[in-house]
Amino acid sequence: MTEIDMRAENCLFCKIINREIPADIVYEDDDVLCFKDINPQAPVHLLVIPKKHIPTMNDISEEDIALMGRMTGKLQKIAEQEGFAEKGYRTVINTNRSAGQVVWHIHYHVLAGKGFGWPPG
Ligand code: AMP
Ligand code: ZN
Repeated sequence: MTEIDMRAENCLFCKIINREIPADIVYEDDDVLCFKDINPQAPVHLLVIPKKHIPTMNDISEEDIALMGRMTGKLQKIAEQEGFAEKGYRTVINTNRSAGQVVWHIHYHVLAGKGFGWPPG
């Protein structure tokens, strides 16, 4: 199995935060950035990331918990702004390979604009 490079200096999403790579940004504040997924899996597919580089759910340290809480709290604001809060949306965080994680900067997938099955498969 090849080694995964989780370093901030090689992180795609840190490059989006730093405006080194373009993205379709829909929301930004001091804590988080929200932009459209480049390969949408639903009519609406957003990614919400902390501005701090945290590779995976397993890397959330004690000092990151408040930031993660604030990020979770922002989702309702983004959902309201984008117009799918009431109808509903699916939030997903993939952690490590088995879950399908390929970008090593923690992110919420926020999917909306259609009905979603359960279990997710
Ligand atoms: P994950 O598989 O959970 O790590 O999700 C990574 C997501 O990032 C995928 O849904 C990709 O489509 C998305 N993605 C990769 N590169 C970009 C990019 N440059 N801009 C926006 N989304 C991206
Ligand atoms: Zn990063």
